[in-house]
Amino acid sequence: MELIVPDNYEAYLEDVGYGKENLHDRAVYTFGTASFQEFPLRIDCVKTVDLMVASKVVSLGGSNVNISVEYRKGNYEWAQDVLDKTATYLPLLEDVWGVPFPGNSNLIIRESSIAETKGYDGFNYGNGTISLLHSAEDHVLIHELSHSWTHACNFEQLWMHEGYANLYTFLVLQQTNPKKALAMKSELEEDYDKKEHQFAQALDGWSIPDEYNSSSSEKIGYGYSKSFVFVSDIYEKVGFERMQIANRKLLAAGKVNTSGHISIIESVSDKDFDQMYSNFV
Ligand SMILES: [Zn+2]
Repeated sequence: MELIVPDNYEAYLEDVGYGKENLHDRAVYTFGTASFQEFPLRIDCVKTVDLMVASKVVSLGGSNVNISVEYRKGNYEWAQDVLDKTATYLPLLEDVWGVPFPGNSNLIIRESSIAETKGYDGFNYGNGTISLLHSAEDHVLIHELSHSWTHACNFEQLWMHEGYANLYTFLVLQQTNPKKALAMKSELEEDYDKKEHQFAQALDGWSIPDEYNSSSSEKIGYGYSKSFVFVSDIYEKVGFERMQIANRKLLAAGKVNTSGHISIIESVSDKDFDQMYSNFV
């Protein structure tokens, strides 16, 4: 089987075996049947067009943040929608985190191809730039925006980054789209219950591949689900307001590893978390 991609298209293929021949105006990919046997093969081709910018200033935590959405020419409506949603979500994130937006005064959200996001739906680089797929749903945008806080906390462990990003996505969705919030929560909890026996991996040291691939998608999803269940269990035991106090301490700590994390959580709640942590990390 052959896939012919003209030069003005950017192609993203998952990590499967194929041959590639570059001709003067196109690339030809050749696949053997083995590539199609185990998983559906995801191929994305995006036409290369000029990038445009739509921007807006939002007042956050007392200071002004300039949000720029870089979009492909022709997708103006998408850009405006992302811009409006970002202006809505950031103040809500400040409210639930109990911490003013910790990023710098410029935030860039870039409409990206799946080649740029390396197979994920979005990516926050931690330097004020977020990549977002055109097809990404609202919860992905909230999740990536939430990483502005997790990066500022300098979390050492991936479960902290992803668990907090999803907990605070859930709390924002509860206000903007309660049905979606419930669906997200039960999906993550069910996924964790289903896979815990299969993978049974402690969260400390959990990592994800740089490039997403279908063959490990089950295990990648398991880590996200377990991180969410763990951080929301902590949240339920600590409570909304004390969790915010903990968030401010996490941010002030400069760098947070697992033992630093448990000591902050215990100090704000006056409860013992040893058993819970040993179940998860
Ligand atoms: Zn994330």
